[in-house]
Amino acid sequence: MSLKLAPLIFVIFGSLMPSLTLAEVNILTSIRPLYYLVEGVNQGINTHNLLVADALSPHDYQPKPSDIQKIKSADIIFRIDAKFQPRLTKIIANNNRTAEVISVAQLKEIALLPNETHLTGHETNGHGHSNNNFDLHIWLSPLNAIKISDNIALLLSKLDPKNREKYQYNAKQQAIHLKKLDLSLHKKLQPLQGLDFFSYHDAYGYLTNRFNLNRSLAITPTLNHQLSAKRIKDLIAIAQQKDVNCLMLEPQFSTKYAKIISNSRPNMRIGTWDLLGFELELKPNSFHILLNNMADNLASCLKP
Ligand SMILES: [Zn+2]
Repeated sequence: MSLKLAPLIFVIFGSLMPSLTLAEVNILTSIRPLYYLVEGVNQGINTHNLLVADALSPHDYQPKPSDIQKIKSADIIFRIDAKFQPRLTKIIANNNRTAEVISVAQLKEIALLPNETHLTGHETNGHGHSNNNFDLHIWLSPLNAIKISDNIALLLSKLDPKNREKYQYNAKQQAIHLKKLDLSLHKKLQPLQGLDFFSYHDAYGYLTNRFNLNRSLAITPTLNHQLSAKRIKDLIAIAQQKDVNCLMLEPQFSTKYAKIISNSRPNMRIGTWDLLGFELELKPNSFHILLNNMADNLASCLKP
């Protein structure tokens, strides 16, 4: 039941049901990593749906009819940013005008980093990936995850004050776990400092920034999916110049270009990492597994 209907129902039935309590909050979250964090605070208290569950890039997301239903029934929607998934922004506007829509990249505690296209002055192709200037893959820093988690607790407490203490307790526990994770990732990634590597798209600034690694060199910074012969030639030259021996792919994308680039260098390793955690269970702990797996996969590709 929608929270907003509750006062109306109370007016109608209030005299008959003086002990009526508010219905649960219907939560909708846009992508898996954010779902894991929200569920860490929610812990099964309310209905919690996920939009982009399948193994496709959220940037290429197209809604299914069942998604529209999820959007219509939501009381609160957690997403990364209006510009992270532009199609979703339109669909929300057309199907639910009353839900609270939270863009976690806009939280005042989150400091956004510039994206690679901005840093290198490449032209953007106008799709929703880059927000023109900022990297929006903010969940890849455990510190950002703590800030997001604390805000989730505040927002859920506002909608559902009777469970405020539970949300705050859950967020506190989640923060303790995330701090431990941050420490262990620092240890794991420290030997990789100073080494250059390629990534598929420009998504890893928060991870490399947090753990003092060199920023990844994205083979397709704007998620163009098609690389020109000139771009491939340039990438091979960059690999030579910077002694790049690791290319991290994402499971959703083709290995075609990675193979061409790696064939040019005998020591080039191809690794895979999944910044969205598609294979993981829809459970709070999956957030930790996601970051841990990413660190392990990077470490085995980028070892000195
Ligand atoms: Zn992305």
